[in-house]
Amino acid sequence: MTHPESPESTPIIVVGAGVIGLTVAFELARRRIPVLVLERDHVGAGAAGVAAGMLAVVGEAEHETAELADLLVTSQRAYPAFVRELQHASGRDVGFVTEGTLIVGLGRDGEQELRHSQRAQDRLGLRSSWLTGDEARALEPHLGPRISAALLAREDHQVDPRALLPALAAATEALGGRVLTGTRVTGFDTTAGRLTAVVGVHQGDDRPFAIRCEAAVLAAGAWCAVGLAWPAAPVLVRPVKGQVVRLRGPAILRRVVRDTQVYLVPRRNGELVVGATMEDVGFDAAPTAGAVTDLLWQARLLAPAVYDLEIVEVGVGFRPAARDHLPTIGPTDVPGLYVATGHFRHGILLAPTTAVLLADLLVDDRMSPLLDRFRPGRFEAASRTAPSVDSR
Ligand SMILES: Cc1cc2nc3c(=O)[nH]c(=O)nc-3n(C[C@H](O)[C@H](O)[C@H](O)COP(=O)(O)OP(=O)(O)OC[C@H]3O[C@@H](n4cnc5c(N)ncnc54)[C@H](O)[C@@H]3O)c2cc1C
Repeated sequence: MTHPESPESTPIIVVGAGVIGLTVAFELARRRIPVLVLERDHVGAGAAGVAAGMLAVVGEAEHETAELADLLVTSQRAYPAFVRELQHASGRDVGFVTEGTLIVGLGRDGEQELRHSQRAQDRLGLRSSWLTGDEARALEPHLGPRISAALLAREDHQVDPRALLPALAAATEALGGRVLTGTRVTGFDTTAGRLTAVVGVHQGDDRPFAIRCEAAVLAAGAWCAVGLAWPAAPVLVRPVKGQVVRLRGPAILRRVVRDTQVYLVPRRNGELVVGATMEDVGFDAAPTAGAVTDLLWQARLLAPAVYDLEIVEVGVGFRPAARDHLPTIGPTDVPGLYVATGHFRHGILLAPTTAVLLADLLVDDRMSPLLDRFRPGRFEAASRTAPSVDSR
């Protein structure tokens, strides 16, 4: 997948081989548009390599606004066809599990939370079925005795991001695109205000490169605002640290199980992913004892058998978050330069729809109304229209 030499020119460059960059590249390659992905590290080096891979629309309804719900539902519906086409193009399995998700409640407080969550789902037009604790245990016999009720979200599936990303890279290359790893982008050249080239260095020997292009998409996740000479209005995105614990042992769950504190995601390869923290601490990549203690304690309340599983890994990732926690997708004020980031807790879920909408823009100059509220310039526009405050 790594090519030592970069080309002199290519029509479209995507910066970042995370889930967003690679899905955009796959979509362009499917449309027979030559595309080159530049990745400073390796495929899936960012948040996507740590993510749980839940396609959680119903399960996270209470955290989401109606603004995002349309995009989430559209992407969730697109997933089965996306997975089919990707598996066909790459010849790889991406661990798409369609058993749904159980959102569980412990005791009276837990049941109240489930009722609250179901009301939030109703407001967004989403559905789940109410189960008693015993009905939930009939589906998942390892659920703990304190679980007194649950919601079954039949459409909230999961995919394995560690299988998804290599499949996206393989499919992109099989369709004629290229994925260049070990190439760090440091800036963008413009002439008369229009994008003309992407510049950077090869990791390791710091050899510089400049690749002429007609368009480029910045999809560098939480790093979109770091270490780049950026000719357009700033991309306002920050990292939100998330820690997960990966366990291994006898399979104790068939589907995703979660409550408001923790989620347990069983993988077909025998792993159980327990996540995740949400920490506003910048790019601090240290795994912490506190996070592991809390996650495992909470996981044990949902499924006591977690206690005997082996700890394989503590993973740390950085979710890209904008100020309003909505994605930033679309053209910048520099013609030819586009952004796709800020997917925060839903990048795996939102990747297929982001890619289709962005490819429509890049190839056909067609801007979907779905993208209006996610425009890169929305913060500037808001600050221009906000009433000024007299500080005297
Ligand atoms: C603990 C955790 C759990 C999560 N669980 C879920 C989940 O269950 N479901 C879900 O939908 N989402 C989940 N997410 C969110 C999801 O992982 C992110 O929204 C998504 O990965 C963002 O994708 P991205 O491509 O924008 O960024 P990333 O995946 O971070 O990829 C960015 C890429 O850009 C590269 N890069 C950066 N700078 C440069 C540069 N200058 N030059 C070249 N390359 C560069 C990086 O190396 C990286 O490979 C989770 C995230 C975390 C941290």
